[in-house]
Amino acid sequence: MSSLSTQVLVIGGGATGLGIAWDAALRGLKVVLIEQSDIGQGTSGRHHGLLHSGGRYALSDPVSARDCASENIILRQIASHTIEDTGGLFVATPADPVDYPDRWLSACSQLNIPAEEISLSAMLEREPLLNPRISRSFRVQDASIDSFDLAHALVKGIQEHGGVVLLRHRLESFIRHQDRLVAAKIRDLSTGKSLRLSASLFINATGPWAKTIATMARIELPLALGKGTLVAMSHRLVNTVVNRCKPPSDGDIVVPVGTVSILGTTDVPVKEPTSLDIEPWEVDLLLAEGDLLLPGLRNSRPLRTWAGIRPLYQPAADGHAQTRGLLRAHVILDHEETDGLQCFISVIGGKLTTFRLIAEETVDLICDKLEIDQKCSTASTPLPHERVPFYSLPSRLEKLERQDPHASADQVVCECELVMRSDLELALRKAVTVPDLDDLRRDLRIGMGPCQAGFCAYRTFAISSEFSSTSPSLKGLRDFLYERWKGIRPLAWGSTLQQMEFSRRIYLDLLAAGQESKERS
Ligand SMILES: Cc1cc2nc3c(=O)[nH]c(=O)nc-3n(C[C@H](O)[C@H](O)[C@H](O)COP(=O)(O)OP(=O)(O)OC[C@H]3O[C@@H](n4cnc5c(N)ncnc54)[C@H](O)[C@@H]3O)c2cc1C
Repeated sequence: MSSLSTQVLVIGGGATGLGIAWDAALRGLKVVLIEQSDIGQGTSGRHHGLLHSGGRYALSDPVSARDCASENIILRQIASHTIEDTGGLFVATPADPVDYPDRWLSACSQLNIPAEEISLSAMLEREPLLNPRISRSFRVQDASIDSFDLAHALVKGIQEHGGVVLLRHRLESFIRHQDRLVAAKIRDLSTGKSLRLSASLFINATGPWAKTIATMARIELPLALGKGTLVAMSHRLVNTVVNRCKPPSDGDIVVPVGTVSILGTTDVPVKEPTSLDIEPWEVDLLLAEGDLLLPGLRNSRPLRTWAGIRPLYQPAADGHAQTRGLLRAHVILDHEETDGLQCFISVIGGKLTTFRLIAEETVDLICDKLEIDQKCSTASTPLPHERVPFYSLPSRLEKLERQDPHASADQVVCECELVMRSDLELALRKAVTVPDLDDLRRDLRIGMGPCQAGFCAYRTFAISSEFSSTSPSLKGLRDFLYERWKGIRPLAWGSTLQQMEFSRRIYLDLLAAGQESKERS
């Protein structure tokens, strides 16, 4: 077993862990981050993509609301390339409590969350598909944020400041010496080799897996898990984030992200971080609630559904059966204080919008414990980025149209998201190990458009095989297509069903890929 040592080991490559590693690296600490899969594979790649204005929790969770409002301003400055400034609306439909808007507006004003009432004609001029029976409408500073671009920028920031990010490295156990964690046993999932990593501090930033990691350190972590299901409609039905003006509940928001609109969400208590199955009632409910905001939405094409898991801190078993009622604010636990175990900190909950603040508070604690006097600078340090500006289909189209088709030998790999062969080859060349198709999806949006990988999966598989020294395995292709299929199966009616049947024919009849995989297995 090889061994390594560092000051800080961060476990988990979601927004929280990446934010902590970035802050620690900027303060000059020696930091290693391990992620069992790819960055953004957990909750950080499974949410609405809303950059909260704070309005959503103004009445129910003022601490979260205030944090969101201040971080919204900071992220627009340091990560502008990941944000689309859609603006936001809170609207009262005929189904919502009539006394809520005034109470909500006064809470926003107390928390300094900008919110301004606008006329219904101004609202409809901005968003013509909204329900004309909406009685009140308020403008807020919501936006949409691309968490994959954000994660890439954070990795780059960590590496530029001397930090190390190890993907496909899973924590398997801790080595404990009396009341102190001293090392972690980690498996490199690409090679199967083990690594012993000693550190001065171990940070558990594994979101819904936090309880499992704490158990490895022989600690009880009271954590409730809430599954939230989301549905992406196949195009932008709105260009502004639209929230229902009522207490947060199921199906009360539509977020325009890239080329689609995301309807969210449900909140179902679950036992495991991998309990991601979607119930038919969840899809029905999201479409019905969405229809109240956008009459006729039910007749539009749903593109895909998926779920993410919220980890919610639930101290001293208070018998909550529901997770919707638990507070959304983050919690940082120094296990020396809570459990008498030194060198171990767990960071739980919060939002993508507040990842930087969570990281700042965590690294302040790390510096206290290591007796290092270094101030946080993430609020004023722009994240590095390569793609300018925010990713959008029109900018890819514009780039394509600027090219002389006779002079360029480039080819389109994904028609829906306009991914070119040159983009794909660049991503493959830059990867440390050959990425799988799902990694390429997160990098380039391959397979995320209306045909849900009907064509691009095969082309991407063939091109990426050229970059691999081993012979291509159809398992990777099969797993990728299976994941795509899981997300469309609950929506199998109308044109979505037609698309599924078309894709199935390509897979089974045209390419006989199912036959090939049976022969090999
Ligand atoms: C349905 C839903 C909708 C949401 N919508 C929004 C929104 O619109 N806006 C917003 O601001 N926030 C939203 N959030 C919250 C937001 O997604 C999270 O706060 C944010 O992504 C931070 O996640 P994280 O890094 O804590 O956890 P994760 O992203 O889950 O990261 C944890 C990582 O730990 C890794 N890991 C686990 N075990 C191990 C191990 N043994 N070894 C190594 N690595 C391991 C996992 O693979 C995973 O990548 C939403 C959450 C949910 C569930």
